[in-house]
Amino acid sequence: MKVRSADFETSAPEYELCPPPNLPEFAFIGRSNVGKSSLLNMLTGRKALARVSARPGATQMINFFTINGNWSLVDLPGYGYSKTPQAVRENFQKAVSDYLANRESLSCVFVLIDGRLTPQKIDLDFCDWLAVGGVPFVIAFTKADKTKAGKLKSNVEAFLAELADRVEGEPRWFVTSAPESKGREEMLEFIGQVLES
Ligand code: GDP
Repeated sequence: MKVRSADFETSAPEYELCPPPNLPEFAFIGRSNVGKSSLLNMLTGRKALARVSARPGATQMINFFTINGNWSLVDLPGYGYSKTPQAVRENFQKAVSDYLANRESLSCVFVLIDGRLTPQKIDLDFCDWLAVGGVPFVIAFTKADKTKAGKLKSNVEAFLAELADRVEGEPRWFVTSAPESKGREEMLEFIGQVLES
């Protein structure tokens, strides 16, 4: 799939304020600083679709973008950033969990996992929660260029093995790097396939 257009639609601070569910949606989420903004810019070929934040945890809205006029890219707030005030955190966790649990137009969630790290409980718990709720998800391991190949491989394998202990069936997964545009074609092709199915 080629990205011909990528237009900002709206930001929703809570689930009730999300736009009408008119297009199939692909949502992106991960721990703060995982590289989500960089990946979204890389994926869409835009320099600043999502703001790459110097301040982790700054993205707090659910942001909707329309791609090629026929699907929506949904940028969800990052989880697991301890410096976000508790009240703000709870509000946005509710917005995100309401969105994930209820959104009828949600086709698939891309869960971003930092490829430099050994499996993190918070990421495994999140995938587990999606699986229990029947929310379709795939995984994108980020920052591949920042990780030695052997270390990346063992982190990926360890994460998938720990996930297999909790969740039935291995999700599709992608290895990505924003500066190298690694994984871009594969992810776009996957989205195209889901749209056609
Ligand atoms: P977000 O908080 O998840 O949106 O993460 P950002 O996209 O803002 O990235 C956090 C930091 O990691 C920034 O300094 C980025 O430049 C850096 N970063 C993100 N993705 C990559 C990547 O694939 N490779 C490298 N080398 N750095 C990355």
